[in-house]
Amino acid sequence: MILNVAVIGSGFGGLGTAIRLKDAGIGNFLLFERADDLGGTWRDNTYPGCRCDVGSDLYSFSFAPNPRWSNTYSYQPEIWAYLQDVATRHHLRELIKFNHDVTDISFDPASKLWYLTTNQGVFQAHNVVLAVGGLAEPRMPDIEGIESFAGSVMHTAQWDENVTLVGQRVGVIGTGASAIQTVPQIAPFVGHLEVFQRTPSWILPHLGHVVSERSKRLYRVVPLAQKVVRAFGYWRRELMVLGFVKDPSRMTKGETLAREHLERQVPDPQLRQRMTPHYRLGCKRVLISNDYYPTFSRENVGLVTEPIERIEPQGIRTADGMLHEFDVLIAATGFYVTDNPIGEKVHGTKGEKLSRAFCGDMANYKGTMFPDFPNLFMLGGPNTALGHSSIIFMHESQLNYIIKTIEVTLKRGARVEPTIDAARKWTQGLQEKLPGTVWGTGCSSWYLNAQGKNTVIWPDFTFKFRQETRHFVPKDHEITV
Ligand code: NAP
Repeated sequence: MILNVAVIGSGFGGLGTAIRLKDAGIGNFLLFERADDLGGTWRDNTYPGCRCDVGSDLYSFSFAPNPRWSNTYSYQPEIWAYLQDVATRHHLRELIKFNHDVTDISFDPASKLWYLTTNQGVFQAHNVVLAVGGLAEPRMPDIEGIESFAGSVMHTAQWDENVTLVGQRVGVIGTGASAIQTVPQIAPFVGHLEVFQRTPSWILPHLGHVVSERSKRLYRVVPLAQKVVRAFGYWRRELMVLGFVKDPSRMTKGETLAREHLERQVPDPQLRQRMTPHYRLGCKRVLISNDYYPTFSRENVGLVTEPIERIEPQGIRTADGMLHEFDVLIAATGFYVTDNPIGEKVHGTKGEKLSRAFCGDMANYKGTMFPDFPNLFMLGGPNTALGHSSIIFMHESQLNYIIKTIEVTLKRGARVEPTIDAARKWTQGLQEKLPGTVWGTGCSSWYLNAQGKNTVIWPDFTFKFRQETRHFVPKDHEITV
């Protein structure tokens, strides 16, 4: 059977694609999922304290509001349950090929089809939607000797509940979004905890709170009320673009707030100094937490800022020669983003790999399509991620364009790809904008590729991206029937 559409992944992106395909009356599609359950990053990240730092009203599908969120900023179990619920309501489970690990996606010019090789056989499809997620492939730190460590090592995104932490000596490497959520949760029951900080993060107060039963009832009875709350949250976040993109010097206001937060929560001036960032707020992802800083007032918790030299069987050796001994090491060291391994598995009409698009060597069109990769779409593609708002909004925007383009391919039996000119114009336009933004003010971040180019972030208001992806523009595409 030749599929109309093969969707890779069953997280927010894959499920959203499936619902929109159904709504458009497009059948004969399947989702390919390497794991035995759906949910993507919200299935995988089960570390204690895992929580979304975008409010739930906005970090959910616009077409599937949830009046039952228990907190304005949900924890992982509730977000995962939301995705399960969405899949059930839309009858998506039967469309998911679980335990199908896609190892190669290649275009065959003779049959004009995409061939998907999986661990359970080969599938053919007219169209492919990559919905694999930008934060799906955990990155272990490339520290010399890590394989020699005698205790247990785990990445936050591959949390192993069988590893005992109670009473143990635990080292956490990294101080990004995952670390600041899990450190306060594990500190009370581990024996001793040391956190290895390479670069301090800017941390703002967390405004999340429990949703009252009254509000939940209101959202259930008057769905418009939740839409209003969502819209308010959306526009409040859009205002941040003025600082992130238009004039990064406006970020000083946020920096003052963060410094005051640090001063309130960390009484020790020396520790405070070590935790103070020296780059513009927003250049790296802005974090929110009320319980991370106070954790360092605990007797059993320490911050190590001395650089890590290597890992030895007993623990971590720092540059000052000191050996920090541990039973367990936790790597909160992020993901392969600009070098997402999926790029190595996708081959276009000339056999070239999609990874060239992630490293910025290949032009892309609206972060979604690529010349020489006909009928192939990517959710969360180059320069569609955000520092200030919900990625679900961006996915839904991309889906407007994707569904319209798939309709063209299916109605006319056509190969559709962006023209080189349209793709270059799009990519260059963004790259010209980026140096003036907060992400170009000088810091290292996972938004930048190995050459220092930002191939991750959308540098504008999200409503502008929504406008750009509203229509299929025939002149920007080569349509071969
Ligand atoms: P991350 O932000 O990339 O942080 C990785 C941390 O590990 C950084 O502190 C980094 O230091 C450190 N690190 C990496 N390699 C190291 C090495 N070899 N030696 C020492 N330190 C090293 O990763 P993350 O915390 O997993 O978060 C990634 C993204 O996932 C977030 O930005 C966010 O978008 C998403 N996320 C979101 C939530 C949420 O609330 N929605 C929660 C978790 C994650 P440097 O800063 O010096 O590089």
